[in-house]
Amino acid sequence: MSEFDYDLFVIGGGSGGVRAARTAAATGARVALAEESRLGGTCVIRGCVPKKLMVYASEFADTVEAARDYGWDAQLGGFDWTRFRHRLHGELDRLEGVYRAMLERSEVRIFDTRARLTGPHEVALAEGGSVSAKHILIATGGSPVRPALEHADLGLVSNDMFLLDRLPASLLIVGGGYIGCEFACIMAGLGVDVTMFLRGGQILNGFDDECRGLVAEMMHERGIDIHTGTSIVAMGPSGDHEDVRPVGAGSDAATGAPVGPRAAPDPALEGNPKSETGAEAGCPLWVQSTTGREAVYDHVLFATGRAPNTGDLGLDAAGVELGRSGEVVVDAYSQSSVPSIYAIGDVTDRVALTPVAIREGMAFTRTVFQGEDCPVDHDLIPSAVFTQPQLGTVGLTEEEARTRCEIDVYCAAFRPMHSAFIGRPGRTLLKLVVNRETRVVMGAHIVADDAGEMIQLIGIAVKNKLTKEQFDATCAVHPTMMEELVTMSQPARSG
Ligand code: NDP
Repeated sequence: MSEFDYDLFVIGGGSGGVRAARTAAATGARVALAEESRLGGTCVIRGCVPKKLMVYASEFADTVEAARDYGWDAQLGGFDWTRFRHRLHGELDRLEGVYRAMLERSEVRIFDTRARLTGPHEVALAEGGSVSAKHILIATGGSPVRPALEHADLGLVSNDMFLLDRLPASLLIVGGGYIGCEFACIMAGLGVDVTMFLRGGQILNGFDDECRGLVAEMMHERGIDIHTGTSIVAMGPSGDHEDVRPVGAGSDAATGAPVGPRAAPDPALEGNPKSETGAEAGCPLWVQSTTGREAVYDHVLFATGRAPNTGDLGLDAAGVELGRSGEVVVDAYSQSSVPSIYAIGDVTDRVALTPVAIREGMAFTRTVFQGEDCPVDHDLIPSAVFTQPQLGTVGLTEEEARTRCEIDVYCAAFRPMHSAFIGRPGRTLLKLVVNRETRVVMGAHIVADDAGEMIQLIGIAVKNKLTKEQFDATCAVHPTMMEELVTMSQPARSG
């Protein structure tokens, strides 16, 4: 008989925690998991999944317009946010149920409550009582952060975007990372007048410069008003600034242009979750920027980064070392400074992506419960930004690669057949960054519709360190956008 109640206690029921719990239980371990909110975590409930569904919703206006140019007698009706939101939350409820069922089938004991460490092997439950476990896994994820600014609490964060009562006419987005850019494209596609404030000179810091430039240009083409080198100096309720004209007034989704009239809030949605910030549509905000500009927006979205959820978890008391951003410091096996306590996913601030958290969870199980030596591999992780067009990336940017070795850069920039035929501005960029000496492809970057799908496949080649010549030995698929990937014979530049 073990001296502990469980072999593993997982705190956090997001993608990483659930996968670790299930895989550990499959080895015969006695596993429990605590989740204070909804099973599925950020990705399923307030991140990747609802975001992607909103991306799909936002693309139809363009599709209908393109269909007309292709000869269809297609008419764009109105977008009914209320109807979409109702279906969206129905889907999230379904997925949450799937997660619960998977855990139950794996015989993981679920505690629907907050858990807090009280020692290296003990956890106190907010619902009462405490349990002990041989191993404890922290998988509590992260949360959006707002800048330190008076009235910042009146702005929204990404979690709130799925809970809006109605679509705003205008939206100011602060921050130009993944979340800022994705929501800018989504909301513009739904007919919202979108303005972005970037404190730096360009969107998507850390991505390949040429790709960032093209995505920014395409966002501009979509009517997104991007202000670089701009921050908020003051903000507050618009009531005190009635002389300032609301952005989007007279040319917004409310008037039907370009995607049609918004529906009135549906009383049937009364039971749905409300904004986590308490800010509601219909409460416009006055904003003054560092450039002296004053404007009123229906909403302000702070997409200014995320912080690890380590507050009030009892980590200090248990002796767990935290880093400068409050993240749990772990080694390559996700083990913290306390040997019985591990951490995976966004709470460790390594690579904040769902598939990475899942892999960290599986590596944890293999190391701790299957006796394997399984450090987490964080090298060459493909990812995509779901802007319109999307940006897919794996490996080094041209700028990073230049600091390491001599490189050849192969590029193809063109108007894809689908857009060229109807005179649309859409452009595609394919880029391979190649080590000139070894010929290994060190990075691949794509700006294109569905670049997220493409980079998943190219990621296999880059991860396996194929050379440019091995890419070229593969026959092209014609006519496709990606055929350029194996036919770019001359470097665009070297250095
Ligand atoms: P990011 O770190 O990607 O971007 C944050 C943005 O906010 C940057 O533009 C940053 O500017 C700016 N910023 C930060 N602080 C301030 C401030 N005080 N005032 C003004 N601007 C500020 O964070 P996100 O929140 O967009 O995303 C968090 C993480 O979530 C991502 O790193 C990613 O790992 C993950 N994610 C992944 C997605 C995907 O895979 N498709 C989708 C969404 C999120 P600067 O660039 O100058 O630092």
